[in-house]
Amino acid sequence: MDEKQLQDYVKQVSLQYFKRPFVHQAYFNRRLKTTGGRYRLADHNLEFNPKMGDLPEFLGIVKHELVHYHLHLNHQGYRHGDSDFKELLTRVKGSRYAPDIGLRQCRPKVLTYCCEQGHLIKRQRRINTNRYVCGRCGQPLQLITVKK
Ligand SMILES: [Zn+2]
Ligand SMILES: [Zn+2]
Repeated sequence: MDEKQLQDYVKQVSLQYFKRPFVHQAYFNRRLKTTGGRYRLADHNLEFNPKMGDLPEFLGIVKHELVHYHLHLNHQGYRHGDSDFKELLTRVKGSRYAPDIGLRQCRPKVLTYCCEQGHLIKRQRRINTNRYVCGRCGQPLQLITVKK
């Protein structure tokens, strides 16, 4: 789906399920990683995750963002916790959450090693401390923290 198709699709979903026109812009934002879409309060535009554009769940995502959109423009409760939001979302059968399709990026583990001089070395992989020494002073290294 390209951005022209996206714009047409959002307009169509808006008319079909909300009986109101979508008169702002919908576009893809590649920086959305874990969410399917976002309603921008400031300019009323909708952003969508391009990786979800071709999924069967995309309709539910578009509905979800349109619920924010129409409620906000109508001065009704447009936040997730508002009863207006919950009711309208249920009525149009929008998705509650973006589908989890493995977009949540695994943060790599960070291992921190330290030598006797206090030089720190961060690695994502375990290193063999019997074989490797500090690159700056040549002292043996010790694993001190493992952070996720
Ligand atoms: Zn939302
Ligand atoms: Zn050192």
